[in-house]
Amino acid sequence: MAMDQKVGRELFDEVMVPCYSPMQIVPVKGRGARVWDQDDREYVDFAGGIAVSCLGHCHPVMVDALKTQADKLWHLSNVMTNEPALRLAKKLTELTFAEKVFFANSGGEANEAALKLARRYAVDKFGPEKSEIISFKQGFHGRTFFTVTVGGQAAYSDGFGPKPGDVTHMVYNELETLAEHMSDRTCAVMMEPLQGEGGIISPTPEFIQGVRELCDKHNALLIFDEVQTGNGRTGDFFAYEGLGVTPDILSTAKSLGGGFPIGAMLTTTELAKHLKVGTHGSTYGGNPLACAVAEAVIDEISKPEVLEGVKQREQWFRDGLAKINAKYPIFAEVRGKGLLLGAALNEEWQGRARDILVAAGEEGLMVLVAGANVVRFTPSLVIDKADIDEGLARLERAIAKLYQ
Ligand SMILES: *Cc1c(COP(=O)(O)O)cnc(C)c1O
Repeated sequence: MAMDQKVGRELFDEVMVPCYSPMQIVPVKGRGARVWDQDDREYVDFAGGIAVSCLGHCHPVMVDALKTQADKLWHLSNVMTNEPALRLAKKLTELTFAEKVFFANSGGEANEAALKLARRYAVDKFGPEKSEIISFKQGFHGRTFFTVTVGGQAAYSDGFGPKPGDVTHMVYNELETLAEHMSDRTCAVMMEPLQGEGGIISPTPEFIQGVRELCDKHNALLIFDEVQTGNGRTGDFFAYEGLGVTPDILSTAKSLGGGFPIGAMLTTTELAKHLKVGTHGSTYGGNPLACAVAEAVIDEISKPEVLEGVKQREQWFRDGLAKINAKYPIFAEVRGKGLLLGAALNEEWQGRARDILVAAGEEGLMVLVAGANVVRFTPSLVIDKADIDEGLARLERAIAKLYQ
């Protein structure tokens, strides 16, 4: 097939593994918070590539970083280190509780590293009986077999044969049942400090504090999966800062690369030393192109004015959604923090989040869902007010049509 031959959505069904069911449009270009499809139709992007495009599309600092590195060095392998990886790791340790960084290529892989580190640490320090991983129903941690098993949706992990063992799922925000269940056999608790895929569920302050205390009591590690909440998304550089609870291990990805694949596991020196030479690895992890882009991204999003701007934008979204809801009452509440927001549908509109996504698409707006009852917004962290207003106007038109 020649490079210039036209490809379209129908080719997907012919040549792609059908584990996705993409929309009919095929986007070809993005700038800031706008995207254009093959027919040059323009969209306002409130989806941000599922909390990835934190600086919008083709932000100049990312394009510059990528082009500059592209002329220098693309790949080496972990037999050698490289400047972008070292610089990025140094900055991540300066910006967080962490002292050590492991680079991967995705959130799932960062979580895989986190879980393997927790298990290895427990085996080394307390013995093989301390292997229980506790996580939460509706939680999401990736699609590798270990992470999907730790995730709280059996529908994603069933049907692939025997699963990695000793994983227990508890109920998010239920401290008492967790306290009853947890023991000195618990190796680690893995959780999102705000459940994303599960429906935009914030932890209560008592719950998140209590989990930390229970982990300390039982010598269990606390792993925060900040793949979706991290890198400025909630208005703090990482969500744990805003919660006043520090994990032992933190995983991140998504917005870290702003659209270039990269993941990272962050931890302390004390824990990191248990992943000795040869115990874990990744061919592409710490790739110079990925790290150069991520460095540019975190330089930008860790600026106080950008983080403050996220809080301002959250308010614009909340105000705009409240106005729409006053005219067309379909939402029960708007949940979440920063620019990880979920508009939960009320009784009459149960199950119709996807209808809204489709109707919004027809009006030229990209949104996401989080389950059947929540419309999710994860736009660029630097989206302009004008783009928010225009996107909300399109959302209102879409809802008005459905409302009739
Ligand atoms: C998206 C997501 C993942 C998986 O990340 P991938 O890059 O798709 O592997 C893991 N955890 C959370 C909380 C996520 O939102």
